Amino acid sequence: MNFLEQLDTGRVLVADGATGTNLQKMGLAPGIPPEDLVFDQPDLILKLENAFVEAGSDILLTCTFGGTRLRMKESKYRERVVEVNQRAVELARQAAGARTGVLVAGSIGPTGQLLKPYGPLEPGQAEAAFAEQAQALSEGGVDLLVIETHFAFEEADAAWRGARSATDLPIVVSFSYDRGLRTMMGVRPADMLVHYRELGAALVGANCGTSLENMEKIAEEYAAAGPGFPLWIKPNAGMPRLEGERTVFDITPEAMAGFASRFVALGARVVGGCCGSTPEHIAAIARTVR
Ligand SMILES: [Zn+2]
Repeated sequence: MNFLEQLDTGRVLVADGATGTNLQKMGLAPGIPPEDLVFDQPDLILKLENAFVEAGSDILLTCTFGGTRLRMKESKYRERVVEVNQRAVELARQAAGARTGVLVAGSIGPTGQLLKPYGPLEPGQAEAAFAEQAQALSEGGVDLLVIETHFAFEEADAAWRGARSATDLPIVVSFSYDRGLRTMMGVRPADMLVHYRELGAALVGANCGTSLENMEKIAEEYAAAGPGFPLWIKPNAGMPRLEGERTVFDITPEAMAGFASRFVALGARVVGGCCGSTPEHIAAIARTVR
């Protein structure tokens, strides 16, 4: 069953947990883009994705969050953007193969640059970079695309147009609200939902950036703005805290699973975790929401 058919069954789907923070725990050095690992240490990515499948994930995100040409400009693989994205799909597909029905979602994060008039980036440049990534991901064989951790309509719209120009696959749009009920650029959940529902997003949602308590308020605002519209919620395992040199996340798997069931009650059809969420968090969520 494809993504939309799986949603149609009414079952809540469980996505995966964090990519970046888990890879760092597994040895990815600070400052190295996770995307480099698709060539340098593919075994690390596979090990993490295998652990998520074992924990019960129905959807694996590709290790391509920073996989636009614009974000990869410092990467040693900046001339191999398409290959990086396609190799990441291959790895996720390999892990997904361990259980029938596990889907692969192509992750499309921000470019790391602001669009005009706030920064140097022309909308057309951004759109072309997103189109290139979306095409690589869809030709690589993903089941859906997730425009995630975005925070500005200008850039996320460029990602939407780029992705839509490349493929007819379902697209999820997920924003990061790190200013209470607003993103860094001031977008509110209600306006975000209405906008991307109108454009044709399969789901809208939120990930990263905030506490679980605030994520619940964000989900409430989405639910009020679009009753019944399917939501995608992938929160951090709490807010990061520095312990010496180490970044730690305090929320236990059980506590996170408790929140996940409240997100489901508010209309979430896909729940998972972002920064700090381990396979143990995902296993607890899967046990709770199914
Ligand atoms: Zn995150």
